Amino acid sequence: MSALVEIEDLTVRFSGERTVHALNGVSLSVEKGEVVALLGESGSGKSVTLKSLMQLLPGKRTKIGGKIAFDGRDVLKLKGRELANFRGPEVAMIFQDPSLALDPVYAIGTQIAETVMRHEGLSRPDANARALDMLKRVRIPSPERRLSNYPHEMSGGMRQRAMIALALACGPRLLLADEPTTALDATVQMQVLLLLRELQQEMGMSVIFVTHDIGVAVEIADRVAVMYAGTIVETGTIAEIIKDPRHPYTKGLLAANLHGAVKGARLDAIPGAPPTLEEPPTSCPFAPRCPVAMAACHAARPPLISKGPGRAVACILEAESVL
Ligand code: SF4
Ligand code: MG
Repeated sequence: MSALVEIEDLTVRFSGERTVHALNGVSLSVEKGEVVALLGESGSGKSVTLKSLMQLLPGKRTKIGGKIAFDGRDVLKLKGRELANFRGPEVAMIFQDPSLALDPVYAIGTQIAETVMRHEGLSRPDANARALDMLKRVRIPSPERRLSNYPHEMSGGMRQRAMIALALACGPRLLLADEPTTALDATVQMQVLLLLRELQQEMGMSVIFVTHDIGVAVEIADRVAVMYAGTIVETGTIAEIIKDPRHPYTKGLLAANLHGAVKGARLDAIPGAPPTLEEPPTSCPFAPRCPVAMAACHAARPPLISKGPGRAVACILEAESVL
């Protein structure tokens, strides 16, 4: 495998009445055809990481540093037509709330057809055929009839499927998924996860899947990046994270979750709260909550230490000199 996405030392700062250091040096690579879950509490920087990749962060008050390469191209420098052709055909995004993606005033078939006409220059009949094919691929029942449905005429689960059909219509190489199943009940959630996994394999695309739910990460991902306070604190395969968590935060998450990966487990069971992010961290951001913190943890922020391919931990306990 080779990397499709390389994020290097990404920092994002929002200025306003109070400055928020939303991302503080995020580095992550995603291979071609790989599904990576970004796992963390709300405010840990998961969605901000996704939005940076699509250039969806509000311009004026946002300061971005670092680098994002997509197949060797510098994403943060894309503008105008290049950016328009990047969003959709190369990278697409799905959300928890489908109304962020679906237009309420157009039928779903029209929305998909317009999108492929715009990006691929298809004729109207070919675009309509693609729209029907997409509704079939996401297994919307009676797809011919559903083409003329408006979003409000669909159930929640069906709207998620319609949003997925629209996102995947141009065959993106990377899908960014921001908690797309969080609002669904357990059965529908599982169906949508299975569908996403199947489409991912069929299309060979990479996926970055944001979730606060370890059980969801287990269902969907090959690899996990655990986020805390705007940084990645641990990465590894699902098996490594579940069986051999190394960062005290990851250990806390799993311990809070009796059987290791119970569906629906929340990440807020560790005593204390994450830092406010009004200052860039100069110490380990987990130190105030860490049961094994020591003086050195307050003196400097531990870097992400590589423990092998795709495996890394940002904790002083992983540094050679301590072991
Ligand atoms: Fe805990 Fe120190 Fe490791 Fe941070 S660096 S997670 S405070 S042991
Ligand atoms: Mg979020």
